[in-house]
Amino acid sequence: ISSRAAGLTGNSLGELFMLALEREAIDMALGTPGYPEPAADIIDAACEAMRAGRNQYDMPAGDLGLRERIAATFPVPTDPWGELTITVGATEALCVALLTSVEPGDEVVLLDPGYEQFRSAIALAGAVPRFVPLQPPDWRFDPADLAAAFTSRTRAVLLNSPANPTGRVLDREELDLIAELAERWDTTVICDEVYSNYVFDGRVQTSIAEVPGLAERSIVAGSLSKSFAISGWRIGFLRADRVRTQAMQCVHELTTQGTATPLQVAVGVAALSTDLKTAAEEMGRRRDLALEIFTGMGMKIAPPEGGCFLFADVSPLTGGLKDGRAFTFELLDTAGVLVVPGASSFADPARGEQYVRIAFNRQEELLREVGHRIRAARPADK
Ligand code: PMP
Repeated sequence: ISSRAAGLTGNSLGELFMLALEREAIDMALGTPGYPEPAADIIDAACEAMRAGRNQYDMPAGDLGLRERIAATFPVPTDPWGELTITVGATEALCVALLTSVEPGDEVVLLDPGYEQFRSAIALAGAVPRFVPLQPPDWRFDPADLAAAFTSRTRAVLLNSPANPTGRVLDREELDLIAELAERWDTTVICDEVYSNYVFDGRVQTSIAEVPGLAERSIVAGSLSKSFAISGWRIGFLRADRVRTQAMQCVHELTTQGTATPLQVAVGVAALSTDLKTAAEEMGRRRDLALEIFTGMGMKIAPPEGGCFLFADVSPLTGGLKDGRAFTFELLDTAGVLVVPGASSFADPARGEQYVRIAFNRQEELLREVGHRIRAARPADK
C-alpha cells in the first residue's frame, strides 16, 4: 500500500450507521438531499437520452450542451469549451483541482473546522495542510491567523462557501482579504461552492470567480448534487481559466474518461426548468424549523447563513461535558434521530468535541417527526 493511500482514513462512522439502521433512526446526519426532490422532467430527460442512444462515451471534458447550460448561469462570463469541465461530482473536482495545482510538499491553506474530505484530498496530493482556526460562536477567522498561515511554500488555498459544517458564507471583506494574500503569495484559490444555491436571509452568494484579484487565479468546484437533488448522478464541474482548465481536463480524462453521458445530457436539457429560487426559500424555512427544534432542545447554534447543516454546541445538554460523540449515541438511542459528532470536522478532534452536525435538507414532515421524537424522548422539555 502506498503511503499516500495508507494515509487516508475511511468513514469513521460505520458503527453509528449500523446502530441507526437497527434503531430505524431518522437520518439527519448526511447531506444526501431529502429535500428538494429531483424534478420529474430531469428523470424523463435521462430516460429519453438513453432511448435516443446517448449511452456511450461523450467528450471526456463533458457534454457540451450541459457545459453551455452551466456557463449560461455561472455568475461571470465563462467559455464552455475552454473554462469548464464536467466532473464526477465535486468530489472528483476537488481532487483534480488539487492534483493540478500543487506539488508534493507544497502547503495548502484551509479553514478549520471544514469539510472532512478536504484533509484527505490534500493528503492524496502529498501536500501539507495549514489550518486557519475559525472561532466560535460565529465561525469567522482572525485576519492575523489567516495572514500567518501563508508562507513561500503556500501553493493553494482551499475554501468552501457556503460551508459544511459551519453554514458560513464568506463575505466580501473576507474574500478581499483572501484575494490580497493570494496575490501577495501568488497562490491558486480553490473554492467548493456546491451549496451556492442555498443562501438565506436575503444574502447573495459571491463566487470567488467574481472577486477582483481572485478571478484570474481561481478554481471553482461546483455540483448539481444538492441544487437538483441528484447526488447519485455524480455530476459536478470545475470552472477555471484556460491554462488551468486544460491541465485539469487531462487529469480528469485520465482518471475517469468522463461522467455518465445520458445523465449529463438530461441535466443539460432539463435542469434550467427547476425553480432554484423557490428551492432556496424552501430550504431557508427548513433551516428555521430545524433551528427551532434543536435550539428548543437546548443546543447553542449560530444560524447558518447558507448550506444545509446546523453546527450545534451540545455542551448545555451534557452538563457542560464536551462530548458530542456520547450525545450522538444517546440521541440515537432515546429519540431514534441520527446526527454526526462534530469532532470529525476539525483537524484536531479535541477542538470539536462539544459539537454535532445536523442536516436539514429534508422533507418538512420528516423534520416535524424529528421534533416529535425529541420531545417524546425528553419529557421535561415538552
Ligand atoms: N463538498 C461539500 C462541502 C459537501 O458537503 C459535499 C457533499 N457532502 C460534497 C462536496 C460532495 O459533492 P458531490 O456530490 O458533488 O461529489
